[in-house]
Amino acid sequence: MEKEISVSSPQIGAEEMAAVQKVLESSYIAEGPEVAKLEDGFAAYCGAEYAVALNSGTAALHAALHSLDIGKGDSVITSPFTFIASVNPILVQGAEVKFVDIEPDTFNINTSKLNAAYDKSVKAILPVDLYGQPANYSEIWDFANKHKVAVVEDACQSIGAEYKGKRTGTLGHIACFSLYATKNITSAEGGMLLTDSKEVANTAKAFRQHGMVAPYEYAGVGYNYRSNDILAAIGSVQLNKAERFNAKRSANAERLTDGLANVGGLKLPQLLDGVKSAWHQYTVRVSEEFPISREELINRLKQKGIGTAVYYPKPLHYYEHIKKLGFTEGDFPEAEKAAREVLSLPIHPGLSSEDIDHVVKCVMDIANG
Ligand SMILES: *Cc1c(COP(=O)(O)O)cnc(C)c1O
Repeated sequence: MEKEISVSSPQIGAEEMAAVQKVLESSYIAEGPEVAKLEDGFAAYCGAEYAVALNSGTAALHAALHSLDIGKGDSVITSPFTFIASVNPILVQGAEVKFVDIEPDTFNINTSKLNAAYDKSVKAILPVDLYGQPANYSEIWDFANKHKVAVVEDACQSIGAEYKGKRTGTLGHIACFSLYATKNITSAEGGMLLTDSKEVANTAKAFRQHGMVAPYEYAGVGYNYRSNDILAAIGSVQLNKAERFNAKRSANAERLTDGLANVGGLKLPQLLDGVKSAWHQYTVRVSEEFPISREELINRLKQKGIGTAVYYPKPLHYYEHIKKLGFTEGDFPEAEKAAREVLSLPIHPGLSSEDIDHVVKCVMDIANG
């Protein structure tokens, strides 16, 4: 039996276990000093003023939109080719989503189409740093400054990535991270909101705890979106490993790119100039020139013990609760094409160069019949 090579695998070691044990032996297991420590660590790592821990990336996105007072009558621009959690908080707030199609090389929002999507209802743009690659923030800021709209960065996949020397988390007015099990660093579940605005940070802090601003004083609506010291303790250990994990991801990605460079019909990942990716995913396009279909390739690799994944099999405007808002198939052709072609190959930091070479060899063998 060959070694199983999975597409993602949380890298949890003795330090995480010791950190959890320490919390369990203390008197804080809910929100306490470990949460504060993780917030400080995230803010320092990314270079943001304030950090607010939440129990998921989705909660962070929701808190971000709430703190910008985005609701009924407002709209938010984002990509139709992302995880559903980028969009559901917009809808939950009662705001409208305006999709702008993606740019095919990077899979990120096509900034040349932003102005055409603008009207007076737009209050924010929510770029997603898909697969770990920052969106085109220079152009996003040109748009945001011109129209005076907020920038909310969905950085759930891009911890440690950089755009022109600045880390994600500082590329918008607000940034949201996830610590879910499959992300570059994880605490099983978890989220983080970063901002330089004290007001946004305070509103998000109240929102995560029922709108509470002082004991049993509620300034508005809120949820229970709190993190806890068990998760935060794992998160702090993982944050310390982020650079090492990302360096390994990057080396694995480079090795795949070298190995697969001459496989006909596979289009390998492209990076924007001035960008350092967090390499959350290594996502190729399996085009029509590839000798077999994507689904067949997935199965053949699976038979060889190699896991792959399709992020994402459908663009968001294909889902019924979104489609019924007024979208139809054909509206965002690049997102639709990407959904048909993309395939993510394993690069997680638990994989050795031999593992990557094995992936390359299997793909080549399949491509060569
Ligand atoms: C993971 C993810 C989220 C949501 O994060 P959770 O912690 O799972 O709630 C949002 N957006 C993107 C792009 C993600 O990858």
